[in-house]
Amino acid sequence: MSFLPEVEALRKALREEPGSEALRSVPKYVALTFDDGIAGTQYSTVTRLLSKYRIPLTLFPQTDPTGRQVREVYREPAMAEPEHREKIREIHRMGAEIGSHSVTHRDLTKLSEEEVDSELAQSRASLEELVGGPVRSFAYPYGAYTPQVVRAVRRYYDQARSVGAYEMDSKIPVRPHNRFTLAPAPLSSLHLPLLPTILLYHNEDLDRVEADLKPLFAEGVEFLTFWDFARKVSRFPHLGVEVIFPLTMAGLTSRRKLLLGVFPGEVEVTVVAQSPETRVGVYTASPEAQDLGTILTGEEVVKEPSISQIRELGSDIWEVERWSSPLFTLRLRRPLPGAGGLSVVVDPAQGTKASVKALIRVRL
Ligand SMILES: [Zn+2]
Repeated sequence: MSFLPEVEALRKALREEPGSEALRSVPKYVALTFDDGIAGTQYSTVTRLLSKYRIPLTLFPQTDPTGRQVREVYREPAMAEPEHREKIREIHRMGAEIGSHSVTHRDLTKLSEEEVDSELAQSRASLEELVGGPVRSFAYPYGAYTPQVVRAVRRYYDQARSVGAYEMDSKIPVRPHNRFTLAPAPLSSLHLPLLPTILLYHNEDLDRVEADLKPLFAEGVEFLTFWDFARKVSRFPHLGVEVIFPLTMAGLTSRRKLLLGVFPGEVEVTVVAQSPETRVGVYTASPEAQDLGTILTGEEVVKEPSISQIRELGSDIWEVERWSSPLFTLRLRRPLPGAGGLSVVVDPAQGTKASVKALIRVRL
């Protein structure tokens, strides 16, 4: 099956008629993923989903036989404990994919190379022994990774999932960067399942998950295991697909940080404000969160400059497009890469409002 006509339809619909009928013809892949392997509520939710709907899903259990982290967080036993291990096998037999979520659920970015290696190798080996087949997917504990961690994961797995580094209210699903940093979409974006979407659950009960899934059944989405999902999504780059999200967040009255990108694409941003004292910042999502819009003047460092400072001092990345009451408009001089993460801070002057308009171009 070729996706090209559907992708063309999606592109046209997003450019010209957001919300149009044409969007319905685009294939929608959804991967349901469940983390940690909790023997109580999660076990019951997952097995009931599998028996009632027979939809593919992926379970990422930790494999520490003491179940320490799961017990601490959920106050329920872990599926990895010897008396509950059979549950993982049962879920696998019911048609789920079993992936690894490390042994002890420590933040891999804080461990030595040897420790990372043993977390990856041991968890895979014990799950493979348990289910009697290959374990090819990994979920980073806390979603945390560095290039070094990704390199290690690639040695043992075919694809990996992070967690959503997103701003809940931005409603922008976090999109695949590559097969080893796939991230779930925020549930708040479910009314917009335009692109392949991964959902992440922990210990939610069946009612809660069913409430999320009902609209997806109605949309005719295709549920996939994480492994299938990664394979299908990785076909997109060969098509050179570009998808454009127009996004407007209006009526901002206090400082807000909005995540606009963690994907291989570009973001164009315009800020419209009632006051020229409105401040703006543009951050890369690295741990150091560098403000790309910082202005240096002699000894002075102006972080998150106001629109009037940008006009006075000049900026490498912002350009004042309109400078007159009632609205002042700033625009990025050129689109910025969304890959690696990009967020915009808008801090309206007291008693005034501001809005952000973004055009987000995603290349899948
Ligand atoms: Zn976890």
